[in-house]
Parts: sequence; structure tokens; C-alpha cells
Amino acid sequence: MGLFDTKYCSICGNKVGLLGGMKLDDGHLCKDCTAKLSPYFSRRHQTVDTIRKHLAYREANAKALSSLQISGNYGDSQKIWIDSANRRFVIARTSDFARTNPDIFSFDDVITIEKVLKEEQEEQKTKDAQGNEISYNPPRFEYSTSYHVHMSVRNADIADDIRIELYREKTSGTYHDDEFFRYNELTNEAINTIKPGAISEETFREQETETPADTPRRYVCYIRCRNCGALIEGPAIPRFCPECADAITLEDIGVIDTETGDILV
Ligand SMILES: [Zn+2]
Ligand SMILES: [Zn+2]
Repeated sequence: MGLFDTKYCSICGNKVGLLGGMKLDDGHLCKDCTAKLSPYFSRRHQTVDTIRKHLAYREANAKALSSLQISGNYGDSQKIWIDSANRRFVIARTSDFARTNPDIFSFDDVITIEKVLKEEQEEQKTKDAQGNEISYNPPRFEYSTSYHVHMSVRNADIADDIRIELYREKTSGTYHDDEFFRYNELTNEAINTIKPGAISEETFREQETETPADTPRRYVCYIRCRNCGALIEGPAIPRFCPECADAITLEDIGVIDTETGDILV
């Protein structure tokens, strides 16, 4: 068997090129047939038989897409599209479902669903006179907090767990902006739409809106660093603890009732 032996697709019979296809345990899949698979379908250890079954499911899914009644969506680039009347959803970047054939999930298919926040920092570089990448002096960073939804679904046609990034708060400043809370609330709302009560969380924002604007502020936002215990008064929320430089996340943020001294959140 030479490296350049011609291979043929076990499903459609077309020639399998060097790129974009897939090796099966008992055959080969061409680029075009591979493109029809769900992105959440495992690419490992599939057989001609499991591919045939999966492609039949994908065809039925494509037909069912026209019955979706989208009532709303969550997310910036990858989006969760909700059909609340029929308790279903799809995950897709655009509403051009006919092109990408996103898998239809029932709310009841979802076994576990959770929110995962990720903090990242990336150094911004410049170039010297010779065109080499160098650090700014002092170094500059771009910070981001991304809001992910992880879920496992009860769907025999899809093996992988689903992980999607819904939102990303990005800034070169050292303070969080309003999107920090807004994205968090939207992510919570998306999760609670699919699985009611999955996220129970009181946020500073909800407390704040209870206080009319013209009355003295009764509630104060505070940040208590879980790493070193430092107490910082809000409402501006630093990305990093000024004492120990640990990343400040939602779990560090609370509200103090200044009349009673009670810590509310
Ligand atoms: Zn093929
Ligand atoms: Zn600290």
C-alpha cells in the first residue's frame, strides 16, 4: 500500500483527497460527507455503519429545522437560538440554519448544564526598528473574561459534550466594565431558560437597582479577595486584587447594607 494509493469514500464512492476527509475504522469518508457530520459528533473510531446512521439522523434534522419557531437568542458569535414554544434550541453562529444544519436539542435532552468563566490576559507587543516583536515599556496587556456554557446532552447521535463561548468582555484597562455583569446575567438567563433554576445567583446589579437614584446609597459594593482577604470598596471592580494581584471574579464581589452592616451577597 503506497502513500498515494487512491482511496474512495465508503459512503458516496467519490475519491478521498488528502485534506478534509476522515479515516474510519473500516473505511474512508470524503470531505463532502465529513462536512455533513454534526460538529458534536466524535471523529474517532467511527465505522461505515455508525456514519450511515448518523447521516440519516442529520438528514432528518435538516428537515425538522423548518418547524423551529425561534423566540430569542443568546451569545455574540456562537449563539443559542431558543424555540420556547416547543422547548427546543439549536447552536449556530447565524440564522442561516439551512446552510449549517445545526442539531436540534430538546430542553429535556440536557442532563447537566453549567456556566464557566475564564479569565485571560495577553501581552500586547510592538515592533522595534528591525521589525522584531518587543514588549512595551511598561508592558501592556489585554484582559478578557469569557462566559462559557458547558452541557452534556442525552442524544444517541452525538457523543461529545458541548462547550460554547457565549460572550467575551475584553479591555486593556485594569477595571471590569458594565459588560462583566450584563454578560453574566445573559449567560444565567440562557442556562435558566433551558434548565429552570440551574443558576441561582444574586448579583450586585440587582441589589443596586432597588435603590432609587435620589436617595443616599444604602448598599455598597465591596470586593473581598478570596486569595488574600483584602477588602476593596466598589463600585469600580478591579480585574486584579491590588494587594496580591489575584484575578477578581464574580465570587469576590458582594454587597454591604450600610444601614445594618449586613453582608447581603
Ligand atoms: Zn463521500
Ligand atoms: Zn488578594
